Amino acid sequence: MKQLKVDAIKDGTVIDHIPGGKAVQVLKILGGGKEATVSIGMNLNSSKLGKKDIVKIENHELSADQVNRIAIIAPTASITIIRNYDVAEKRKVEIPGKIDNITHCPNPNCITNKEDIRTLFDRYRGADDDKTEFMCHYCERIYPADGLKIKVG
Ligand SMILES: [Zn+2]
Repeated sequence: MKQLKVDAIKDGTVIDHIPGGKAVQVLKILGGGKEATVSIGMNLNSSKLGKKDIVKIENHELSADQVNRIAIIAPTASITIIRNYDVAEKRKVEIPGKIDNITHCPNPNCITNKEDIRTLFDRYRGADDDKTEFMCHYCERIYPADGLKIKVG
């Protein structure tokens, strides 16, 4: 049996229940965690997800905006804020209604890929509510959340 060993952190954020293999994208969303100490556990066994990733960020509490960005690629994620070794707050991620300039549009002919324009996607509610899809504000194409490429930096 593989046992997950999570070293306690004094202050910071633990992002758990990230779908297996998505931790790297989560870090991209957070801008690489520049000065924070980040540790990652990948492909850990999870009864809920099969495989999951965990990201721990020391001395950094995620903003609501960052939490919503994470929801785009890891809708199952749970966020725990740690202060002085104690759980100060637990948050569930919420899939945002809009994605403002976080992802590229996958459509190569989209104007956002030709000119310097902020990308904007609106949550698209089709017949199948289980799917998370977004529509590009400019070319009006619809893409699944995990088909959108996160901008780096
Ligand atoms: Zn587009």
